[in-house]
Amino acid sequence: MRFHVLTLFPDMVRQGLEISILGKAMEKGIVELNTVNIRDYTLDRHKKVDDYPYGGGAGMLMQAQPVYDAWKSVVDAVGYRPRCIYLTPQGRVFHQEMAKSLAEEQDLIFLCGHYEGIDERVLEEIVTDYVSIGDYVLTGGELPAMVMADAISRMVPGVLSNEESGSTESLEGGLLEYPQYSRPAEWMGKRVPEVLLSGDHKKVEEWRREQSVLRTFRYRPELLEQADLSRQDVMLLLKEKKTE
Ligand code: SAM
Repeated sequence: MRFHVLTLFPDMVRQGLEISILGKAMEKGIVELNTVNIRDYTLDRHKKVDDYPYGGGAGMLMQAQPVYDAWKSVVDAVGYRPRCIYLTPQGRVFHQEMAKSLAEEQDLIFLCGHYEGIDERVLEEIVTDYVSIGDYVLTGGELPAMVMADAISRMVPGVLSNEESGSTESLEGGLLEYPQYSRPAEWMGKRVPEVLLSGDHKKVEEWRREQSVLRTFRYRPELLEQADLSRQDVMLLLKEKKTE
């Protein structure tokens, strides 16, 4: 999987992604990060990449030419037009299923805007997907690109050392993850639930499933509409609703 990030701040992206689990995946060559500095492609002799918007209004706009040429450098290098994601608060909101599906791509281009955004004409020319990371406005697309690259990488086989840990995570199967505990068995008078110390794997699995269902009901009830629920889960939820 190769991420190509078109940005005015390549160091920010590299520093954010080249550590911990993703850094190791890059060392192993499972994931590659190619940052492209849009400023390197401007034809302006003062290295300017932005200008005033036609019609007036606040702020500056990134110009079409340097963005297009930065994008073209990636397309020429890989030999085809990979999906190009423009990070924008106007896009579809990113979620786990999107991360999974994007993890199947060989290359992904992330286009990070800054200032008031980017000249519409180049967006029409190169962007295949408009994606937001949430309903708030950030100063640039770098953090959203890093958020997406992180979530997508975790879905790439070999990135997580234990494949299991990806599949039991929150939002898998539409439910939140159950609570977890580590040593000691008692801390500040709080004991770890006895079932987890029992060594009975079947009981532990049942308890975890129940906790996942109950947690989702309490914190993100809207997720239950799409979740994959068994008859037992539904019974548990009915009981919980009655005690409310
Ligand atoms: N004027 C733009 C608008 O109203 O849609 C917002 C521009 S924002 C200040 C600058 C850049 O930050 C955007 O071009 C985009 O790349 C990025 N950005 C800001 N908020 C974002 C979000 N929620 N998700 C993804 N990207 C975002």
